[in-house]
Amino acid sequence: MTEAAGVTPGLVCAHHHLYSSLARGMPAPDESPRRFLQILERVWWRLDAALDLDMIEWSAKLGALEALQAGCTAIVDHHESPNAIEGSLSVIARACAEIGVRANCSYGVTDRHGPEGALAGLEENRRFLAEGGIGMVGIHAAFTCSGDTLEAAAGMADELGVGVHVHVAEGFVDAGPGTALARKAKDDWLLVHGINLPDGVDFNGTLVHTPRSNMNNAVGYADPPRLNMPVVLGTDGIGADMLEEFRLAFVRRREIDVTTSPEEPWAWLEGGWNLMPAARNDVVTWNYPSIEPWHVAYTPGVRARNVVVEGTKVLDEGRPTMVDEAEVRAKAAEAAVRLFAKLDA
Ligand SMILES: [Zn+2]
Repeated sequence: MTEAAGVTPGLVCAHHHLYSSLARGMPAPDESPRRFLQILERVWWRLDAALDLDMIEWSAKLGALEALQAGCTAIVDHHESPNAIEGSLSVIARACAEIGVRANCSYGVTDRHGPEGALAGLEENRRFLAEGGIGMVGIHAAFTCSGDTLEAAAGMADELGVGVHVHVAEGFVDAGPGTALARKAKDDWLLVHGINLPDGVDFNGTLVHTPRSNMNNAVGYADPPRLNMPVVLGTDGIGADMLEEFRLAFVRRREIDVTTSPEEPWAWLEGGWNLMPAARNDVVTWNYPSIEPWHVAYTPGVRARNVVVEGTKVLDEGRPTMVDEAEVRAKAAEAAVRLFAKLDA
């Protein structure tokens, strides 16, 4: 990624939750979570249950818009909205297309809402992929799924010729189930987090490292090189500023090994193109001339100025060309008001 000064291909966010774009400023839980499972129960599982298709649409548009402004042209999204499952992946895919961002969508199947909920999630993956959508089969995490659901999801991925996109061994609660599932992974699976995966096992698939999210949830450090897998970077729903995620991946690794070169996390950033190769053809012009590891590692605040996707200029001097930025932000803010009111109720 050093070809011309200040110009690179589009960056890839290998694990996002576009549904979380509206979460900023959401009402705090009655009691502050102290453990990872409580963070899920009191924040994310409360939020995802309140989503409807309109909120999902504006959340995805806001997330895609902000991705573009950070030079990210391709998002591997992982979605959950247990009370608005059917059609949700198409809403996200359309929202991204309207902004001009490439998307790979999956629905995170789970038994948290009973076997009917799991079936509805499986069916949404099948419907979207069978209709020609670009995506994978999503699983929330092994510890929230029955054995039957995990088998059905893996079988569906095989049948449809795509990989599985799943959170693995993020907290201790998923160490056992997550590791058991990871042992069944195939080359095209995306294993997200992997913090509690054991050393010394050759897992198939690609590890998605999400340093900011892992620090935010105090779940520990994945230390990706120890797993001997291909590594890519994701934000886990906290925006799509991949240069920022690269910087965090660098300093987090540096904290345990000061000899770490930024070229190592830079290779993880570039690994995203193996997941979404078309992003290599996108052209991002930055507001900084040297987009290479040793410069970017120590230069916060680098932003995209212009972005061309499939020959179309979708960002012009920091402004999206296919949508009205003010309108997207206003509609997203309205959707957030509705969402927060529902959370408060
Ligand atoms: Zn995630």
